[in-house]
Amino acid sequence: MQKICRSLDETEKKEYIIGKMNTHFIQTKDELETYIRLTEDENSWFEQVGEGALPLRITTYFASLIDKDDPADPIRRQVVPTVQELYKAGSESDDPLEEVDHSPYPRLIHRYTNRVALLVSDYCATYCRHCFRRRFTAKKDAVITSNELQNVCSYLEDHIEVKEMLLTGGDPLMVSNERLFQIIQRLRESRPDLILRLCTRVIATFPQRIDEQFIATLKSFSTAPIVVMTQFNHEREITIESSYAVSLFAENGFPLFNQTVLLKGVNDDRSTLVSLMNALVSIKVKPYYLFQGDMVEGTGHLRLPIERAIEIERELRLSLSGLAMPVVAVDLPFGGGKVPLDSSYYLGKTGEKTHRFRTLTGKIIDYIDP
Ligand SMILES: *Cc1c(COP(=O)(O)O)cnc(C)c1O
Ligand code: SF4
Repeated sequence: MQKICRSLDETEKKEYIIGKMNTHFIQTKDELETYIRLTEDENSWFEQVGEGALPLRITTYFASLIDKDDPADPIRRQVVPTVQELYKAGSESDDPLEEVDHSPYPRLIHRYTNRVALLVSDYCATYCRHCFRRRFTAKKDAVITSNELQNVCSYLEDHIEVKEMLLTGGDPLMVSNERLFQIIQRLRESRPDLILRLCTRVIATFPQRIDEQFIATLKSFSTAPIVVMTQFNHEREITIESSYAVSLFAENGFPLFNQTVLLKGVNDDRSTLVSLMNALVSIKVKPYYLFQGDMVEGTGHLRLPIERAIEIERELRLSLSGLAMPVVAVDLPFGGGKVPLDSSYYLGKTGEKTHRFRTLTGKIIDYIDP
């Protein structure tokens, strides 16, 4: 397999700005076909896809991890679109978590009393075909503006009950260092006590983005903890490059936690998940959540039945130490919030594919299998 992953040279590091880095992104069918021969379903996506769909983007590094000879390769399934994405089940929505209804200001989501999420940019280095925030991701909202940030900061000053902020998107690391540190600086001026969670998939899909200089600057904003949240979905994403990026954070005192998405045909079996979780612990990343797929349009082919997720939870609990065991959870539709997936919150079936749950606040909400 031809490997074209490499670290950025010094000039590229200095000039790193989204847009100047196009050579690192596969964004067209032609470019993709230099890596893999498309299957019929993949080809149909390119023929049928319309406006507004989540576009194709894969870093050349992440594409180099795909086994070309395996059409069911778990890396490929996460990033190469197929025609199934264009099928929408009636039960699916573009915003099942009702994030828009929970936004006091654009880009600010306040669903849980003590923590908020900020959508810093709508770019990602690689677009995941299972993306749950596709109403926002790659929709030309670009990077948060100074005015938007000003409103967010006033809100934070008025809401001291907010103790944590998730910097997310898209991906907050798809912004130049200069702009990202301006944003963090502004947040720190309003709330030096705020715990920041840097939620990024760049460590897995574009680890060359992280370097010593970035880490050193980030460290200077640690008046309160800055915690790194990664998304590794398969052990094969843990490479020399991504482990190195992780080690730069770990060795400089940034705790790392991982959120995996449970994906059909990618990681929906015991041994794949056990290997992934143990490998994460071995590079000093704590498995935090394993998420059942959200009821988002066009992701039905990647979601599993709830019963399988509950079974997996039991299988993992039997095989993993507490350190390696993530909380298996589902983020319920209608803005119901996250609930752990184990039998105690599950009230049972109310139809062939309909499952009834009790949320943490006692609400009754249904989830429908794909
Ligand atoms: C998931 C999420 C959080 C963080 O929840 P934790 O359970 O603390 O990880 C915060 N805000 C929003 C909107 C979320 O979706
Ligand atoms: S990194 Fe996150 S926001 Fe970006 S495409 Fe993947 S799931 Fe969506």
